[in-house]
Amino acid sequence: MGAPDLNCDLCAGTGMVEVEGPSPHPPSFRRCDCALRKDILQNVERGLNGLSSVRAIPSSPLVDLEGGNLWVTSGESFLPHLRHLAIRKPVTWNFRVVSDAELVTAWLSTVALKGKDIIDADAYMVSTKFLSIPDLVVPPDLLIIRMGIKVARNAASSEVLAEAISTRIHEMKPTWIWDEPDRPLNSGHLFWSDAVGRLIKPWSRLSLLGSNSNNPSPRRKRKTLRQS
Ligand SMILES: [Zn+2]
Repeated sequence: MGAPDLNCDLCAGTGMVEVEGPSPHPPSFRRCDCALRKDILQNVERGLNGLSSVRAIPSSPLVDLEGGNLWVTSGESFLPHLRHLAIRKPVTWNFRVVSDAELVTAWLSTVALKGKDIIDADAYMVSTKFLSIPDLVVPPDLLIIRMGIKVARNAASSEVLAEAISTRIHEMKPTWIWDEPDRPLNSGHLFWSDAVGRLIKPWSRLSLLGSNSNNPSPRRKRKTLRQS
C-alpha cells in the first residue's frame, strides 16, 4: 500500500481518518484519500510501467468498456485514455498491458523448457519470468495486448496470438487488442492469420487517433460506442 502524504491536511500524515459513527461505539477509521491515491497510482504503474505519469485527460470513451472485448486502433494517444480508465478503478483491479513480443517470448520460454532449439531474433529475451502463455495471460481481469512491438519475424507469431486470445475466451475474461493506425492488424501483419481474424472480428472496434483528441475519430469508427 502507498505511503500517506506527510503534509496531508486531512490525516496529518497518518494515512487514516476517523469515520463519524454513533457515539457509544469506539471510533473507526478509513484510509485517507492521500494514501488511497498513491495505492491507485501504484496499481496503474503495475499494469503498465510509466502509465501513472502520462498526461491527464478530462474524459475517455474507454470508461465502462473494461468488461468486454475490444479492438482498439490507436497510437500513443491510447495511453492517456487508459490512464483515465485505470485511475477510476479500485486498487484491486488487475489489468495488464503485454506486448506481442512478450507473448512470443513466453511461448519461446516453453519451447526452451522442452529442450528444443530456439531460433528467433528475440531469443535473448527468453527468461523463466513467465513459464507459459497461460501464466502470462490468465491472471489479469483485463488483458491488453499491444501489437507492433515485435519486429523480428517468427513463424509461430499468429498461433501464439490466437492461443493467447483463445485462452482468455476460455477463461471468460475480457481482452483488448491495441494495434496502431500505421501498422493495422490485418492480412499484412506479422501476427495476422485467419484464425486470429475469426476470433477478433466480432469484437467492438474503436479508433482513438490524434494526440489531442479525446474522442474517437468518426471516420474510422466501425461501431458506435457510447462516448462520455
Ligand atoms: Zn491524508
